[in-house]
Amino acid sequence: MSSGIFKYTDVNFCKTYGCKNLGVLNSLSYQKSGLNILCLECGFSFPVISARALNVFKAQVNKGYQGIILSCPHCGKSKGLTRHGRSKNGLQRIKCPDCSITFIHYCDFPISPRLLIIGELVRNGRSLKELPYGSEYSSTVLGRDLSKMASISRLIQTQSSSISIDSELSTAAFLINFNASSNRMYAIVTADKRSRRIIAISTNYAPSATSIPVDFQYKITDEESCIGQNLVSRIFAKDRLMSRRDVYFDTHYGTAQLKSNDSGAIVKPVLAAYRHFELVKTLTDRYSLYVHHYLEHECFIYGGCLVANLKSVQDGNCHISFVYEQGDRKCRKNVHSEMIVSDIVWNDAWYYYSQRQYHLAVCNLTGLRRGNSVFEATLEPAQSFIQFVQQHPFYMCLIRHSPANVNYLLEFLMQEYNQYFYNADTFLGNT
Ligand SMILES: [Zn+2]
Ligand SMILES: [Zn+2]
Repeated sequence: MSSGIFKYTDVNFCKTYGCKNLGVLNSLSYQKSGLNILCLECGFSFPVISARALNVFKAQVNKGYQGIILSCPHCGKSKGLTRHGRSKNGLQRIKCPDCSITFIHYCDFPISPRLLIIGELVRNGRSLKELPYGSEYSSTVLGRDLSKMASISRLIQTQSSSISIDSELSTAAFLINFNASSNRMYAIVTADKRSRRIIAISTNYAPSATSIPVDFQYKITDEESCIGQNLVSRIFAKDRLMSRRDVYFDTHYGTAQLKSNDSGAIVKPVLAAYRHFELVKTLTDRYSLYVHHYLEHECFIYGGCLVANLKSVQDGNCHISFVYEQGDRKCRKNVHSEMIVSDIVWNDAWYYYSQRQYHLAVCNLTGLRRGNSVFEATLEPAQSFIQFVQQHPFYMCLIRHSPANVNYLLEFLMQEYNQYFYNADTFLGNT
């Protein structure tokens, strides 16, 4: 077994569940048509995702997991690794049998007093300008400190991930401003329904623009809007919106311009989505035997989830559904249900349940799992984190930071959020 996050990924195959070309690269029954490839087996087309763009982006943003996840940072292999002496600072060195390269495995990071102060300021919603270090404390040093905080958060995250063997994960997306401007990043977050903890968060910021193909950098300034009077009209509106895009994944969410001295790039959200689910899979794979993914209705979020879980989906050990939910789950009573079919993008069948204070729409994309009630479907655990961030006392300070620092701080906030449930679990005695 190897970790997807350090492996080369090519995702240019048919994404139609049930098609025999699902997961098949370079099939003879693929026909190029503009920016898309038509699969003659199923009659549906899929957009080409540059393997170069995806792998360059992955290599950059997954760097922070090197030595934190116990797998080779070069080939992703996690079996057969051996100990290989210690580093100068006494840290364990590991060697990959295939690549012969060595890397350090981190069990903990030193936490300097400065990081503790930063953590306190963030918790209390105070600006990081209040740090008592005067003018010698440059933005470069702050960036380095925040990067260390993010590493510590990642380490705690990988060590405390404890989802059940039969798990349900909810994924939602949100936009977050940076540089105290109207520019925004696209962020994706996945939460475990049972423990409510966040598994991972990804954004579409790459620290270095070098080698990211220009056509996979996000340069759009206008914003798609998707309005509907009720859940059903929102489903159809979203399908129409996706079908009108040049390629299905080309979402337009408004401006995302970096400062001229920022060497990074904002990439198309599709790359973030594909990276995101590989990371979720890597972080949960050890524990989970069956997983049900509940997703926000967005084709590239589905694509990323499907590709990262392809084998499990084909074996029936992973199911994926789109979910819309409105109102309070607790108000749910005997709900009236109907079936709605939208054939705008694919032939999607939605179960729609409606009552005065609660509405739910679920589209099962990978067949049905016996015994799993549609009522289990929810995005709430992921949305709850988004609310936590947006209502956090630090939020107004957060969005003044550079995109790189916003990313580090989001990882810290994820850990803060998870800590709350960790304590709640211990307090209530349920693990
Ligand atoms: Zn097909
Ligand atoms: Zn290797």
